[in-house]
Amino acid sequence: MNIINTDLKFNGLTYCNSPRKVILHHAEAVSCSIEDIHNWHLNNGWSGCGYHYLVRKNGVIYKGRGEKALDAHCINYNAISIGICVEGSYNFETMPDIQYNALIELIRCICNKYNITEIYGHRELNATDCPGKNFPLDRIRREVRSGAAPKDCTSYPGYLLIMNPSVKDNNVRLIQKKLIEKGYSVGSCGADGYFGYGTLEAVKRFQRDKGLVMDGIVGERTWRKIMQ
Ligand SMILES: [Zn+2]
Repeated sequence: MNIINTDLKFNGLTYCNSPRKVILHHAEAVSCSIEDIHNWHLNNGWSGCGYHYLVRKNGVIYKGRGEKALDAHCINYNAISIGICVEGSYNFETMPDIQYNALIELIRCICNKYNITEIYGHRELNATDCPGKNFPLDRIRREVRSGAAPKDCTSYPGYLLIMNPSVKDNNVRLIQKKLIEKGYSVGSCGADGYFGYGTLEAVKRFQRDKGLVMDGIVGERTWRKIMQ
């Protein structure tokens, strides 16, 4: 499962969510990114993206607000739920398999993590037609219950992080933070999101200590070791 850690700027979030339900939405947009949704919701006067996750049609999952943050997607349920939005407009579209499969994995991970058994479509709780009449709600509920959570529910962005001091990347910032926590200095700039020489050296030292290939590249094995 690939989850992209995004770098959205929220206007003040409250962190007291205690998830007991998973609530599913569609974006009601044939194509949209997490940044689009974030901007739409900022324009609503909200803190930013109201959902915890967005699952795009290509099966890639994006983080919205953190799971502990109160969400803003379903009146009366925002303090007790994880809100997942899927890209698409499912009153008239049909969900692609790759998106469906990613959604199932994500829901299984969340249900397992919080011991959740209740999965709802937005329309079952509020007066709305979201997530659309073609949204396979019953099939999702059946399928989530019929299988176990994937062994690894931690996020891996799905691409190699390679030294590149000119590009800011939130996944780089995340590994920098973790490396610092683990006692590996990434240089005087700290966790700034730029993969420079200091980060390269920190990654190599970490790889050496963990018996990984010391190539200074953060692939899936190194990522998972750093995130542990
Ligand atoms: Zn909705």
